[in-house]
Amino acid sequence: MSSAYGGLSPLLILCLGLFFFSFPVISYQEISDETLKSLPRPKTDFDIHTGALLSPILRTRVPGTEGSRAVLNHFVDFFQSSLPDWKIELQNSTSKTPVHGNKDVPFVNFIASRDPPWAQAGDVGRLTLVAHYDSKYEPEGFIGAIDSAAPCAMIMHAMRSIDAGLTKKWEKMRKSGRKHQSLEGQKGIQVLFLDGEEAFKSWSAEDSLYGARSLAEQWDDEVNAAMSVYKTPLSSISLFVLLDLLGSKDPTIQSYFETTHWAYKKLAALEKRLRGLNQFKSTGNAPKPQWFIDGSKGEHELSGFGSIQDDHIPFLDRGVEILHVIDASPFGFPKVWHTLDDNAENLDIDTVEDWSVLITAFAAEWMELEGFMQMSKKASREENVNGKASGQWNKKTEL
Ligand SMILES: [Zn+2]
Repeated sequence: MSSAYGGLSPLLILCLGLFFFSFPVISYQEISDETLKSLPRPKTDFDIHTGALLSPILRTRVPGTEGSRAVLNHFVDFFQSSLPDWKIELQNSTSKTPVHGNKDVPFVNFIASRDPPWAQAGDVGRLTLVAHYDSKYEPEGFIGAIDSAAPCAMIMHAMRSIDAGLTKKWEKMRKSGRKHQSLEGQKGIQVLFLDGEEAFKSWSAEDSLYGARSLAEQWDDEVNAAMSVYKTPLSSISLFVLLDLLGSKDPTIQSYFETTHWAYKKLAALEKRLRGLNQFKSTGNAPKPQWFIDGSKGEHELSGFGSIQDDHIPFLDRGVEILHVIDASPFGFPKVWHTLDDNAENLDIDTVEDWSVLITAFAAEWMELEGFMQMSKKASREENVNGKASGQWNKKTEL
């Protein structure tokens, strides 16, 4: 599945080429050590009291309440002010719940996306980064710092960190006329902050995943313009990366799906490289086990442990490719899970920062931004000495 077609006959390569030409192809390009070392850091933006990204999310945000609206406004403000080239949408639905009697509770999903400026919406396959932003109805005062305030902030930081790179890359493609080579050009990215993931009373098919169920259904029913590459907004999701329960120290992340294990391995490889380059703050001096415990396994060696119920389920049921990044094994969820201890003070901020850098790196590789990311002065000098100026780094994989 990965890098090369080494050893195959030219005829077979030609046949494979023709085969793949008839389908949207996902290409993926590793970024260099110099770029990894230059990735932006959230700095004080993850301060739990005053940080511009994280602190506004660290509050109760039960669907339909003032806290929920305030956090939603925070997302809208952030994208409008920091990422003005992104398109923002809100998707609304209502539902009865087991605790609200006859009342219809509103659920609002936040969607932000960025496509190549010349592309028709229906022709763009999007890397889709997902976290839920609602907090649990009970216990009263539950903040849900790892569940999922911190994952929302990680995604915000990652999108801000690759935004200028996207602009540069697409501007270069436009100038050179490469936009007409549509396979690579029609690659976009989107963020889903979903509402109503949590059950109000006890988890069931009806009492959970309110926002995700509504969005998956709507995007499955909507039809893109005639002649579009992708028939529906749902089929435009090239990979659904769901982050949940992240922000505790020393997480353990399992690989759940054979068909996306290649992408899991990319995250595992990036984790290893960032550690090797001393870019992981949470590592300290002691050797730590890898977060991505299945990184050295092949896709047929996965344990087969059934997938966890989470926001990906309504999308998985409709055939969307899922990468579920959740701290859930081998000893269960983090010990603060669904207790009042899942609060700001119990976040391991170094780990939250490391996650944000790892997600940035993955998004930069997926969007093929080597040569377009802002380099630190030190890294640029090293790059010139080593002759790895932009464009010369070319570890590209067609998948
Ligand atoms: Zn939860």
